[in-house]
Amino acid sequence: MSVAPSQSSSATSPAALPLPQTGVPLLDVNRQYDAIRAEILAAVTAVCESGRFVFGPECERLETDLAAYCQAPHGVACASGSDALLLALMALDVGAGDEVLMPSYTFFATASAAWRLGAKPVFVDIDPVTYNMDPQLMESAITKRTKAIMPVHLFGQCADMDAIGAIARRHNLPVIEDACQAVGSEWHGRRAGSMSAIGCFSFYPTKNLGGFGDGGFMTATDPKVSERLKLLRGHGMQPRYYHHVVGINSRLDTIQAAVLNVKLRYLDAWTSLRQANAERYAKLFTEYGVTGSITLPAAEAGSRHVWNQYVIRIPGGRRDALRSYLAERKIGSEIYYPVPLHQQTCFRELGYETGSLPESERAALETIALPIFPELTAKEQRVVVATIAEFCQAAKQRAA
Ligand SMILES: *Cc1c(COP(=O)(O)O)cnc(C)c1O
Repeated sequence: MSVAPSQSSSATSPAALPLPQTGVPLLDVNRQYDAIRAEILAAVTAVCESGRFVFGPECERLETDLAAYCQAPHGVACASGSDALLLALMALDVGAGDEVLMPSYTFFATASAAWRLGAKPVFVDIDPVTYNMDPQLMESAITKRTKAIMPVHLFGQCADMDAIGAIARRHNLPVIEDACQAVGSEWHGRRAGSMSAIGCFSFYPTKNLGGFGDGGFMTATDPKVSERLKLLRGHGMQPRYYHHVVGINSRLDTIQAAVLNVKLRYLDAWTSLRQANAERYAKLFTEYGVTGSITLPAAEAGSRHVWNQYVIRIPGGRRDALRSYLAERKIGSEIYYPVPLHQQTCFRELGYETGSLPESERAALETIALPIFPELTAKEQRVVVATIAEFCQAAKQRAA
């Protein structure tokens, strides 16, 4: 999967910098595959020959190894990150009439998991620097009906889990981490997925640990919660055809587990490359003198940012123009997310007015994600930065 703008070879604008023919993709998963192809194919072949295609020893190994990687005592695999969030809420008995605190500036699945159970997402605004849920705004959103708190570790950086944990303890509420973008990230030495009742992860191909299709994972601190998650992901069935609770079908394919077991060994090396790319961007943007026009993302002191996304902010209504400018020059970018969840049509009946979550709304208008994948080259990064500098320069000239 190459998430690049369309690559028609003729359209090189005369104003463009000398760019590589192929442009710069937002993400090129083939580069990663090329580097580990033999190992992946061997692992997939072994699964094909085993004749065992759901769960099995590869899946159990992933559950053990990834839980250990996340510094969590238990791991439970499932079919997607969205299912992980749903199963987590089911395991904590969240249902009709309950309220779940969460950010609005996140992927849809965070809220839909609560909604599907008849619970009400209660949206809390974000910190404008980290884009994560602002703990200072949480307490006033808690009511008698609040059943759980769901922070999202957005773009690969943990939410302030000390502050969130303190509020949760004060109100005796369980926390579920949406760590789908943040495998391996840390908050003051503690790993994503180890700081709450349940951590939820996604193996969607654009995530830092991406499978060859869909997949998901949950970490749990309590063995009883872990057992319940296992029961719920398999139709509540134990033993076969005896159902104690109504669960869902959310099995992980063995092929996915086999691929992920290979990839897990490389995850720290890939994370280091993402971190190096983030540092290089900071240097390049300073070198090109555009740090006055845009705001770079910041890694908080004491956190381990794993850079699933590198998201800059460009205010003054110029974000969409920048995105078009980059697309014309075949540079991939993405908007995460153009519409905050409280403004989505499907959640209209929740009654949020425009302006009710000002920082989420502003982020949705001002942010743009740039290529940050591990295999991105220094040369490509220079092209991205030079192009943005050129855009900012042109904007300044127009304004003068
Ligand atoms: C990717 C993602 C999900 C959903 O994961 P899927 O595997 O695509 O279902 C949920 N929450 C966040 C924040 C995500 O980034």
